[in-house]
Amino acid sequence: MRRVLIAGGGIAGLTAALALLKRGIDVEVYEQAAELKEVGAGVQLAANGTRVLYALGVGEELKALSAETQAKEIRLWNSGETWKLFDLGPLSIERYGAPYFTVYRPDLLEVLARAVRREKADAIHLASRCAGFAQDDDGVTLRLESGATASGDALVGADGVHSRIRQALFGPDKPEFTGVIAWRGIVPMQRLPKHMARMVGSNWIGPGGHIVHYPLRAGKVMNFVGALERSDWRIESWSARGTREELIADFRGWHDDIQAFIREIDTPYKWALMVRPPLERWTVNRVTLAGDAAHSMLPFLAQGAIMAIEDGCVLARGLAEYGVPDALKRYENARKDRARRTVEGSAANIHRFHNPVLADPEEGRRFIDREWTSRGIADRYEWLFRYDATTVPV
Ligand SMILES: Cc1cc2nc3c(=O)[nH]c(=O)nc-3n(C[C@H](O)[C@H](O)[C@H](O)COP(=O)(O)OP(=O)(O)OC[C@H]3O[C@@H](n4cnc5c(N)ncnc54)[C@H](O)[C@@H]3O)c2cc1C
Repeated sequence: MRRVLIAGGGIAGLTAALALLKRGIDVEVYEQAAELKEVGAGVQLAANGTRVLYALGVGEELKALSAETQAKEIRLWNSGETWKLFDLGPLSIERYGAPYFTVYRPDLLEVLARAVRREKADAIHLASRCAGFAQDDDGVTLRLESGATASGDALVGADGVHSRIRQALFGPDKPEFTGVIAWRGIVPMQRLPKHMARMVGSNWIGPGGHIVHYPLRAGKVMNFVGALERSDWRIESWSARGTREELIADFRGWHDDIQAFIREIDTPYKWALMVRPPLERWTVNRVTLAGDAAHSMLPFLAQGAIMAIEDGCVLARGLAEYGVPDALKRYENARKDRARRTVEGSAANIHRFHNPVLADPEEGRRFIDREWTSRGIADRYEWLFRYDATTVPV
């Protein structure tokens, strides 16, 4: 039986592990954290992600923990004027054959980890930081920082933006700061003004920044992401904290609903948004990359985690069908253009979401009418939502 080693037990690593185990391929996952416990943040999962999660048998479990957001809207930063972006809920199922979920990240990881352990109880090794690997024609050996080693037929670097496996394959990382930071936080819904407690995702757009909020956990919690042009913070981390005072200062002048929201965020986290030049290749013989390790992207299409989910699915389909290293090369070929297009589409949204013209109400309205035509929205999202990782050729 073939064995695949996976560095990183995040969204990419656990989805790949589950998809491989479901196809009868043995896996071992090595995760640096001592517990699979994430800092609180939400993640939006459009139909192209939930389609895969349903195919892997975890859709209903996730549905119970998520919020089925009914629609998304654009709002003007200071007046709160509202434009429809698209309907979701039943429409997502009718149109794309799968729902749109908004999920608390720890819930998603928990559901994936439980499903992996149902397939193989001891597949996930915690407190196991990967340091490097060696490979030859017969196999690959993963080296942990503890000095321990593990052997397999293939290795998947699913170890996130700072991937050690990527660096071992292709040399030092060259991230470039975008000049934008992202604030993140969550608030129990009952602490928000009543009129804000809606099952709708809102994108507030403004000069120099934008805010996205959407419900999680059947509407019990609201997730906040506030992106802001700021050059004094360069740390790319899920766990770096800021203060509420700093967050309030960053969004001074925004609508009262935003002020009310920010005041209730107990622990705001901040993340410096970096871009990396696209990799020419993801694979060297028996070693490949998945998720952010292969294609980190700005969160402005809300697709990074979904790309990680799609990667896991396509990789497992390739490995079920072909030998190593052929399967890894086929996986890379099947995925690379789509990932690159998503990276580019996410970056293109910066100037749509933050634009100096939004400072002026009249110009701002004209800008929104021009940028969010139904044709423009369809061009930006349809190709993402319709992709089916469970059937694309590998
Ligand atoms: C503000 C913000 C909002 C976002 N919103 C969305 C959204 O709405 N929808 C969406 O689809 N995406 C969103 N994303 C993107 C998404 O979160 C990432 O694309 C996704 O987490 C990538 O998953 P991953 O498994 O590749 O990486 P990660 O989730 O970072 O997981 C990597 C794992 O590898 C482990 N690891 C790292 N190094 C090692 C090592 N040396 N050895 C062992 N383990 C290691 C880490 O501990 C971690 O568990 C957002 C991102 C940000 C910053």
